[in-house]
Amino acid sequence: MRSVAEHRSVVAGLIRPRPPVPVALAEALGLVLAGDVVAQWALPVFDNSAMDGYAVRAEDVADASPEHPVVLPVAEDIPAGRTDGLTLAPGTAHRIMTGAPLPAGATAVVPVEDTDGGVDTVAIRGSRPAGAHIRRAGEDVAPGTTVLRTGHVVTPAMLGLLSALGLAALPAIPRQRVLVVSTGSELVEPGTPLKPGQIYESNSIMLAAAVREAGAEVIAVATVEDDVAQFGSLLERHAGDTDLIITSGGVSAGAYEVVKDAFGRDGDFSSGDGVEFVKVAMQPGMPQGIGRVAGATIITLPGNPVSALVSFEVFIRPALRRAMGLPDPERPLRTAVLAESLTSPRGRRQFRRAFLDQATGTVVSHGPPASHHLRWLASANGLLDIPEDVVEVSAGTEVQVWDLT
Ligand code: AMP
Ligand code: MG
Repeated sequence: MRSVAEHRSVVAGLIRPRPPVPVALAEALGLVLAGDVVAQWALPVFDNSAMDGYAVRAEDVADASPEHPVVLPVAEDIPAGRTDGLTLAPGTAHRIMTGAPLPAGATAVVPVEDTDGGVDTVAIRGSRPAGAHIRRAGEDVAPGTTVLRTGHVVTPAMLGLLSALGLAALPAIPRQRVLVVSTGSELVEPGTPLKPGQIYESNSIMLAAAVREAGAEVIAVATVEDDVAQFGSLLERHAGDTDLIITSGGVSAGAYEVVKDAFGRDGDFSSGDGVEFVKVAMQPGMPQGIGRVAGATIITLPGNPVSALVSFEVFIRPALRRAMGLPDPERPLRTAVLAESLTSPRGRRQFRRAFLDQATGTVVSHGPPASHHLRWLASANGLLDIPEDVVEVSAGTEVQVWDLT
């Protein structure tokens, strides 16, 4: 049997980063910048008003007070977006809105609240020092400034900044493109009637969500029957634009194991396309497979829902995040005190669904170890990681827990 650590490194070796490309801003949230971003523009782009009010020469209103307002003719009206360059003549005012370009010659803006709001003439009831309520070109960003650096994870604020600087795309490591395939002739789409012997298909929505949560892109989700031809044609249809194919089911020891049948029971991908099926010393998730098909990496997970998702957590999530350069590829590992006694199979690294209480630093297992108990996984917040050689853990022992929150 292969150890969990060995299989993790095989998986990591086959999930490779895609080369950086320009990514449209709308698609870039959460990606990792693959180059520094240098501002080609100033921000603000031009001197503009920080208030709705009147652009003036500060000296023209120096003596204004509520008792003795200074009355000036309003020579222009400047809404935001006016593009003709204006000049303010001495002894006049321009009505100006927030964000509108400051006319040449103006040295201050008097907020409308300090005036009578006049349209032809304006009575100004307070003075303002030179520079008041003016946003200067470049005071936020001077052209040539490196505003973002390689390795930053793109946030909403960064997208705003780049848009403000006129950029439509940024250089980033693209998302891994993932195809999620469920296999099994017993599987029926939720929302449709069940016949006796059929069950609702639950792995594809779960694994696709996990792929997205890991930061990757799901290019398609499909369910096929235990039929090699159907399975094969699905892979052919998608392999070309896929980095990773994740299948579930069809890899155990029984008959009708479609994934094993498709790749030959003794799959060998060292020669090119093919899948290597291995037993990994873990519970759940022992039967695993990995290989290449038509230019894509394929990982074949066991079908039991808990096995499938735990396998995703252990092998695929960290590799996907690493390939995209994302921070924290691994779940945080917490040390906690086990609040009950547990047994664990010899020779298998066991990942028990767990409930971790961070406040008290204690952890309990959450539900039985068998791999069809999906309900418990759905309410667990951690995975108890019990080493291969441990068969008993008594209450009060310190244990390691993967924090899934
Ligand atoms: P298999 O690995 O195909 O033998 O499947 C193992 C168990 O997991 C069987 O009980 C299957 O019915 C179940 N199973 C496999 N795939 C799915 C799926 N996509 N959704 C729900 N249950 C599944
Ligand atoms: Mg099956």
